[in-house]
Amino acid sequence: MSLGAMISNLPFVYEGLPMRVLFGEGTRSSVREEALRLGMSRVLVLSGPTHETAARQISSELGDLHAGTYAGARMHTPIDVTEEALALLRELRGDGIVTIGGGSATGLGKALALRTDLPQIALPTTYAGSEMTPILGETKNGVKTTQRSAKVLPETVIYDVDLSMDLPVRLTGVSGMNAIAHSVEALYARDANPIIGALALESIRALVKALPALCDDPHERAARAGALYGAWLAGICLGAVGMSLHHKLCHTLGGTFDLPHAETHAVILPHALAYNAPAIPDVMARLRDALGVDDVPAALYELNRVIGAPRGLHELGMPEDGIGRCVELALANPYWNPRPLERTKLRELLSRAHLGVVPSIDPN
Ligand code: NAD
Repeated sequence: MSLGAMISNLPFVYEGLPMRVLFGEGTRSSVREEALRLGMSRVLVLSGPTHETAARQISSELGDLHAGTYAGARMHTPIDVTEEALALLRELRGDGIVTIGGGSATGLGKALALRTDLPQIALPTTYAGSEMTPILGETKNGVKTTQRSAKVLPETVIYDVDLSMDLPVRLTGVSGMNAIAHSVEALYARDANPIIGALALESIRALVKALPALCDDPHERAARAGALYGAWLAGICLGAVGMSLHHKLCHTLGGTFDLPHAETHAVILPHALAYNAPAIPDVMARLRDALGVDDVPAALYELNRVIGAPRGLHELGMPEDGIGRCVELALANPYWNPRPLERTKLRELLSRAHLGVVPSIDPN
């Protein structure tokens, strides 16, 4: 691929987000030093119930900087949880936030930062990538709304490979596919740029290599490091450019049928990419080149099989008669997409995804 082809979408805008990242093994032991660097003296540590013990270990690393621990983070950042944690933060006169966990714990930290503008340190344990974005989704009365604010971006992110070692195999696979989806859509975003494009391809290469290896041996350190590295870069992509049809379908399916987040991404990605393929020949060439395959949607579909991810929406509990509703919702308030959205073709896409059959590229 020539440099000219790589930077074909001229002019472009690239905006780097101001974050400090530590990456390695055992890096969580730097949490106190990083807290001091940010001027924290009374830290509230946040996690979900799974990471209560890990949160207590982080609390002891913080020593006299630790003010309290809250282990009630939940998926989709419900407002009542945020209000409870906010009351504790105020009672403790906290001046800094440390989160440990997946997107749910990171989301709670962001929700508190939105309301207080306090500095945050995030220690991610999944491949969701929320720690790299200025995006916050919150749920009130069952309705999820999303906003962007520089206030919610963590100041420091500590990636510690050790913290991802026990991520269950199934979650490893689907969380990794969720990350690949961020990078794939970043390549053909309306505001795509060559810097994010390079990070996206690097991220896809790292994840496609690491995920099958982790399926064979979930404790393989080099593969864990590769997956976390790929997920970090995918998070940068998600935070930097707009997402298209794939993310719209996943958000619609998740919101309407309460389907699980990462699994839905895994099922939809090969089909959404096949839909867009005829409109993005340059991106498809770069993906073929990066992955060394002729048919990228089919390769992603096969990757789902290898990592034990679901391949059909029916496996996630989506009713077949919900396809029409999902198509209408996706058309009613669409995200920008490189290929125009056509009702019949979207219906075909979702029918194939529902059944779990091989994705099909229709050039017409
Ligand atoms: P999660 O944080 O809820 O974690 C999923 C499950 O895995 C939980 O039960 C958790 O306890 C467990 N877990 C996490 N790490 C583990 C580990 N290392 N070992 C063992 N178990 C572990 O889910 P997630 O997929 O990380 O994040 C999804 C949430 O994040 C959603 O609410 C989603 O909307 C949000 N999200 C937001 C953004 C953003 O930019 N705002 C980006 C991605 C995801």
